[in-house]
Amino acid sequence: MEIEEKILEPVEIRGRIHSTESFGSVDGPGVRYIIFLKGCNLRCRYCHNPDTWDPETQDLRTAGEILDVAERYHSYWRNGGGITVSGGEPLLQIDFLLELFRQAKERGINTCIDTALQPFTREEPFFSKFAVLMQLTDLLLVDIKHIDPEVQKNLTGYTNENMLDGMRYLSDIGKPIWIRHVLLPGYTDDDAALKKTREFIETLNNVEKIEVLPYHTLGAYKWKELGKSYPLEGVEPPSRDRVENAERILRGL
Ligand code: SF4
Repeated sequence: MEIEEKILEPVEIRGRIHSTESFGSVDGPGVRYIIFLKGCNLRCRYCHNPDTWDPETQDLRTAGEILDVAERYHSYWRNGGGITVSGGEPLLQIDFLLELFRQAKERGINTCIDTALQPFTREEPFFSKFAVLMQLTDLLLVDIKHIDPEVQKNLTGYTNENMLDGMRYLSDIGKPIWIRHVLLPGYTDDDAALKKTREFIETLNNVEKIEVLPYHTLGAYKWKELGKSYPLEGVEPPSRDRVENAERILRGL
């Protein structure tokens, strides 16, 4: 049996679900049903979903169960709407994603993944699975955390080489992406780093959109609820000027 056929064999697998959102309007085109998965290896200082980090959950659902609920909102999916899988880091559950998107495509649903590409590797078995998953994926929203590997490590706990390599791979296969960059004063908003990020973006040929996401403190309370001290206590969101400055640089305007 061909590797691709084997990867696409129907499997009975349950996703570890954090939550869902019926009318997402910012995570991909149109109105979307968003599925937030549990588990993330990164520890971004600005994370507003630290409650997704732990992969453990009682909420286990099959692809069919999720899609049956998602399709109730089908009539709202005009202008390219559909489903987006977010997290946490959805690629940590790549076997579940393959089954979810295989079934989504059978139902004619537009598919999108919101990811930092942290699990990306060209090693097997991940790489073949990822290649097949990309055949079932219409769009990826990819976070660039920081262009400098060591600064990123300080910010998230991991360096960025494999994540940037994942973006190069997506460019090579012509898979559309939207790039996202969280603007965090004192960490990700210096012009030199933004210009270096722009230089990297210019090497890619699959970028449809570049979004600057201003850091906010709305998730700070979750850190406290989890008994963790919030690492950005006292850091204020960026000014409108700094956000526009970052947009100009990253978009090459
Ligand atoms: S990748 Fe996302 S979920 Fe994971 S720590 Fe960073 S912001 Fe949080």
